[in-house]
Amino acid sequence: MEQVDLHFIRQIFKKRLPDSHKGSHGHVLIVAGSKDKMGAAIIAAKSALRAGVGLVTANIPKKERTTLFIAVPVAMAEFREEESHTQKYTAIAIGPGLGTDKSAEKKLKALLQNTHVPIVLDADALNILAQNQGISQLLPQTILTPHTKEFDRLFGVHHSEKERRATAVQKAKELQLIIVLKSHKTFITDGTASFENTTGNAGLAKGGSGDALTGIITAFLAQKYEPIQAAVVGVYLHGLAADMTLETQSPESMLITDVIENLGKAFQ
Ligand code: AMP
Ligand code: MG
Repeated sequence: MEQVDLHFIRQIFKKRLPDSHKGSHGHVLIVAGSKDKMGAAIIAAKSALRAGVGLVTANIPKKERTTLFIAVPVAMAEFREEESHTQKYTAIAIGPGLGTDKSAEKKLKALLQNTHVPIVLDADALNILAQNQGISQLLPQTILTPHTKEFDRLFGVHHSEKERRATAVQKAKELQLIIVLKSHKTFITDGTASFENTTGNAGLAKGGSGDALTGIITAFLAQKYEPIQAAVVGVYLHGLAADMTLETQSPESMLITDVIENLGKAFQ
């Protein structure tokens, strides 16, 4: 298992070229948010933009579009009830604040069946898959970002992090997936290579942290990082921005919105 530290990240990090334009940096679709959980979509969209992606479109319920545009003016929107034309996107994230009702389930299924764009599945997308035993039908290299409870819903109850990591390696290999098992020390595996993150702190133990991570990883995926690299760089940078937030906040007071504002420092 490899420790993910600054030295490691420097080997895979791609600098933004001076002559690039927004089309060089991909277009992320974020399928997230619902009536009572629009914050998750906003956090994921904002994080993806702060992680360098060229364009972000959020797939949200039509009624909630004003909330999105006020919070993230650069984001575009498409609507939950309508068909997504996924060929224009370079990476897709599904799940933060999505809910698990019929419309969420229908959208997830439609995207998984008809789309060949690299995908990150988080939160309610994982919960829907767990309810439907849908995990075996994912495209190879799909990235899953479960926290402990989501992981156990997908793969059965575990009694220690060591057991969970062993299952993650086995399932990633068997299903050809990338699993980001989120915790105090996030573990990332594609079934062959495994990584342990070294950044992050207990200030992240608060609502919204995972939604930001999903946006960040998807942004790297859209910028043509290999899926395993997108996961590793994303997890490291998310934690590093949280560590840098400790200069002005405490682990108690930290909000994920502060962490997103510090992504710039983390890149530096
Ligand atoms: P979620 O539960 O989906 O909001 O995801 C939580 C995110 O915060 C994951 O990226 C975790 O790795 C991170 N996180 C939560 N608690 C801690 C902690 N005590 N130390 C470091 N990272 C944490
Ligand atoms: Mg989450």
